[in-house]
Amino acid sequence: MQPENAPRSLFDKLWDAHLVQEQGEATPAIIYVDLHLVHEVTSPQGFDVLREKGAAMRRPDRTLATLDHSTPTLPPARDGSRPYITEQARRQVQTLRDNCREFGITLADWDSPSRGIVHVMGPELGATQPGMTIVCGDSHTSTHGAFGALAFGIGTTEVGHVLATQCLLQNKPKSMRINVSGCLADGVTAKDLALHIINHLGMNGGTGFVIEYAGEAVRALDMEGRMTLCNLTIEAGARAGMIAPDSTTVEYLRGRARVPIPGQGFGRAVARWLQLRSDPDAAFDKEIEIDGATVRPTITYGTDPGMSIPIRELVPAPANATQEKALQYMGFEAGDAMTGRQVDVVFIGSCTNGRISDLRTAADVLRGRHIADHVRMLVVPGSESVREQAEAEGLHEIVTAAGGEWRLPGCSMCIAMNGDVVPAGMTAVSTSNRNFEGRQGAGSRTLLASPATAAASAVLGRVARSADLVTDPEVN
Ligand code: SF4
Repeated sequence: MQPENAPRSLFDKLWDAHLVQEQGEATPAIIYVDLHLVHEVTSPQGFDVLREKGAAMRRPDRTLATLDHSTPTLPPARDGSRPYITEQARRQVQTLRDNCREFGITLADWDSPSRGIVHVMGPELGATQPGMTIVCGDSHTSTHGAFGALAFGIGTTEVGHVLATQCLLQNKPKSMRINVSGCLADGVTAKDLALHIINHLGMNGGTGFVIEYAGEAVRALDMEGRMTLCNLTIEAGARAGMIAPDSTTVEYLRGRARVPIPGQGFGRAVARWLQLRSDPDAAFDKEIEIDGATVRPTITYGTDPGMSIPIRELVPAPANATQEKALQYMGFEAGDAMTGRQVDVVFIGSCTNGRISDLRTAADVLRGRHIADHVRMLVVPGSESVREQAEAEGLHEIVTAAGGEWRLPGCSMCIAMNGDVVPAGMTAVSTSNRNFEGRQGAGSRTLLASPATAAASAVLGRVARSADLVTDPEVN
């Protein structure tokens, strides 16, 4: 804990406010957890630990569960049975349902209008709020930092600790502030900014840090853009990402199911939230400046999200043996144009880019157009709520008229453990967050990009920016 009255960063303030026990020379700190998000893949062992020890759950009321990773995105059969890809997937889902019933946890089950990818659902419900500590057995828990929360991904053993104690053992990370000045150019999205930052930092450039994003270009992002940015923080190796809450945060949360209503605590909550910011003289272990105007539509070409370039640039020469291997796997050679690369599959969805604004962006590109004959395109809403909104706006009809598949919410091709897989050797432009070898299916090749780029690439059948559709003679 820092001396009283010393200027503190937002991260320091949240850390101090949740400290149960200080870090010792040989022992990590103990941090209280306000919200524990749970899904079917990383939780079974945690519940088994409770049973083995005869322990009760510490705070079922601060735990929220959903079904997302293993869930098929195809509709059920006439008899109501779900097309699970494996018996293990079916069992994982059933085990979480059983565990939630046994331990009294609220579960967004198959029939719930709240069900969605864990990092889409939490904010939608207003369960994610500024000032909270939030954990989940999924790396991309950093998403929730967009609200000025301190949000960590945790391992399966830690899931058991949190279920039993509502606390997390944690060494205090260092702090970094990334200040993005100026404005993003037209057609440049939060995904492009995130890929640009990871490239700037290098894949492990954030290791050991909690990153606070600040600056005019970050303030100008809406909450969905901020979630995309914080979601990808983990891909630079950082422990968490965060953005101080402001009026954009407040307006997003107003009226959500788990947020106090006006006249019954909302005003007090807002006053508290808006105090959550780094003091003007707060010290950071590292500070980075980025000019937002220099960011261009960006795409990855390698097997980590840091291997990215502006779409119009040529694949650079590998800097080391790892990058050389990555290029070989991806089927690129130094000097290749990204815009010439044939695309076989397009995936629009995930906790990075499966929200309503992402689907609207993709639909704007697809409206009145058809995807190339050789392309398969899956569009997967991040939650039931996103699906409902998108269908009310007719976005599903735009997707299907363009030749794409409109699916049920879930992680889908982001993790390829639910039946949605990119075949070996094929190239996918994907709005998700990971592109390591085999992430989207054994032998699959993933190019990470924004929804606008993904949709434009589906139409042209090769890597393209949405601006290229206007000038491309092959497109009417
Ligand atoms: S969409 Fe991908 S990254 Fe996000 S929670 Fe699902 S598997 Fe994890």
